[in-house]
Amino acid sequence: METKGLLLVFTGKGKGKTTAALGMALRASGHGLPVCVIQFIKGSWHYGEMDALPKLGVELHVMGRGFTWNSDNPDADRRLALEAWDFTCQRMASGKDRLLILDELTYLLHYGMLDEADCLAALARRPPDLHVVVTGRYAPEGLVAAADLVTEMQEIRHPLRKGVKAQAGIEF
Ligand code: ATP
Ligand code: MG
Repeated sequence: METKGLLLVFTGKGKGKTTAALGMALRASGHGLPVCVIQFIKGSWHYGEMDALPKLGVELHVMGRGFTWNSDNPDADRRLALEAWDFTCQRMASGKDRLLILDELTYLLHYGMLDEADCLAALARRPPDLHVVVTGRYAPEGLVAAADLVTEMQEIRHPLRKGVKAQAGIEF
């Protein structure tokens, strides 16, 4: 069966972008497809997927720093972001994967740490059978235009609003 590598974008302000991408990792790994996840923003929690993905044989690379919009060191943030992007470009060129998840990549574009045209050009050069999932709020217009599939998560309700704190297995 011929495979067409798709560019999929999960964006919007509602919860579910990263978990939808992880669901695809689960699904693809069940078919024995090589999957790699690159997280561009280091969260402050110990996320369950950090332990679960290796058990599935899925490679996970957590790169970058924490919350870059409120940073005490924007130069370091930018440098780490670009290192993470270089790593991603090498990874795409390696041909190792069939599914590559670029979690929170949209923030690098939104905050101008990575040039959108450069990013789109690199994605267009990827192996033809490589599916790429990009997650994160504020997906820029050019990325949305280039994608084969775009889903916008819309918040209807979130337990945080009632003061329910983040819980293991739900938020992290
Ligand atoms: P998840 O990782 O749970 O799929 P996400 O990737 O859609 O969430 P992000 O924008 O990456 O959401 O935000 C990460 C964290 O913020 C998660 O802990 C998530 O539950 C929480 N979050 C996401 N959307 C909302 C919201 N609308 N209100 C409050 N917290 C949210
Ligand atoms: Mg997310």
